[in-house]
Amino acid sequence: MSSLQLYDTTLRDGAQREGVSFSVVDKLNIAQKLDELGIHFIEGGWPGSNPKDAEFFEKVRTLPLSNAQIAVFGSTRRPKMKAEEDNNLVMLIDAGVKVATIVGKSSDLQVAQVLETTLEENLNMIADSVGYLRANGLTVFYDAEHFFDGFKTNPDYSLRCLTVAAEAGAACLVLCDTNGGALPETVDEAVRAAVKSTSVPVGIHAHNDSGLAVANTLAAVIAGATQVQGTINGYGERCGNANLCSVIPNLKLKMGIDCVSDEQLAKLTEISHYVSEAANLVPDPFSPYVGFSAFSHKAGYHVAGVTKWADAYQHIAPTLVGGKLRVVVSELSGKRNIIYKAKQLGIDLPSTGKETQKLLEQIKLLESRGFQYDNAEASFELLVHRAKPDYEPPFELVDFMVVVEKRRRLPTRESPEEILSEVMLKVKVGTEVMHTAAEGNGPVNALDQALRKALLQFYPSLAAVKLVDYKVRILEESTGTASQVRVLIESSDGVDEWRTVGSSPNIIEASWLALSDSLEYWLLKQKTHQ
Ligand SMILES: [Zn+2]
Repeated sequence: MSSLQLYDTTLRDGAQREGVSFSVVDKLNIAQKLDELGIHFIEGGWPGSNPKDAEFFEKVRTLPLSNAQIAVFGSTRRPKMKAEEDNNLVMLIDAGVKVATIVGKSSDLQVAQVLETTLEENLNMIADSVGYLRANGLTVFYDAEHFFDGFKTNPDYSLRCLTVAAEAGAACLVLCDTNGGALPETVDEAVRAAVKSTSVPVGIHAHNDSGLAVANTLAAVIAGATQVQGTINGYGERCGNANLCSVIPNLKLKMGIDCVSDEQLAKLTEISHYVSEAANLVPDPFSPYVGFSAFSHKAGYHVAGVTKWADAYQHIAPTLVGGKLRVVVSELSGKRNIIYKAKQLGIDLPSTGKETQKLLEQIKLLESRGFQYDNAEASFELLVHRAKPDYEPPFELVDFMVVVEKRRRLPTRESPEEILSEVMLKVKVGTEVMHTAAEGNGPVNALDQALRKALLQFYPSLAAVKLVDYKVRILEESTGTASQVRVLIESSDGVDEWRTVGSSPNIIEASWLALSDSLEYWLLKQKTHQ
């Protein structure tokens, strides 16, 4: 067990990211995941700022957590009043948790310009607020706001804010790079000065406005900080906070600080994706450690390397963080990529075989028509299977007809003008032909509904499959109105996710190809797992 504490503020600072809003249920689910990851403190929110956070604290009491403690967040009392008269502080006690983090000004300029009070009164505010929460039995972390900026202009005053909080009973003094402008060198110097000035543990809370939040966090740990604050995926105000999905593996794998167990670290990728889903943000594929492409190899030369030695082009083994090595197949790839990729899928392709050569030629042809397999491995896998002479598809399209009708009628409040999409579809399963029709809120949705309706009768378990993302791109290489359209679909059955691609001058056909690949791929997987 290491003495380093991980403190997550995804639910408070992370929710400050533009466009992010977590429901109370989301927040509770995320807290559960953070607990599984081995986070020591989970900041739940600021009950004084909104009723949703107050509800969270009400409900979190019954959440079964095995590692983490929940912390409540607030600020020091307002100037010229008693701590017990400040409702914001009273609410921290009412939240019913054992840990409170309070933010207080720790820069002389901020006190004068923003707080508009005296330097002395700010120190009283810190001492009173920490003392009041301590007297009510709480463990108190002091977030020293703008500490690094203050340390530049008046280091003595910034350090004085820390010692005042320490004397009042704070259990950790968290140095905040609130504006995210500090450099690692400055952080190093200021953290060392803080550690020297007090016997209370020091923490770091870094923002990413200079792209240095992770670097600054690690610099602070090297300089003696023992509490690390950050958020999952680096979500946060403006450019975000220190990304715990980078900080944690760096601490454990590169710096040898055992802040989470091996099993917990292996959940990192899953938890990163879980939080993006909850935030309704597409996971960043290029995110270090946890991105979809974090361990992908595209260049033929690199693939040749990893075929001989897995670590030739990767900084860690992907499984340590729950990721996996991927070989990307594209028109740039040689035969070796295809052989390697097929091998990963459990298919042995001979390197000199005609089949492999044919497959490579087909991929090149399809890519010239706008298909791209970089990010659509399920479609690639189907190509490999279809190249085999004995392949039997789980279903085949006979035909479909799509009707999109816009009707002018008396407008109502709910639907001022109606646009209707309907699909009639025939598919063959074995020797049977199914004929179905379905409506949808758009042609692709109607197509999806009609295909499912037909297939569910043969494969009821298909109900678990959902489309999670649908992306359309107009390919600019083509000309005029006859431009090629590429559709990329991401599907999930609640356990696995897979991506399929379709391309055509017609958006409905491109969607059909990606959609039918998605279901065919899943059915194929089910068959091989049986
Ligand atoms: Zn912050």
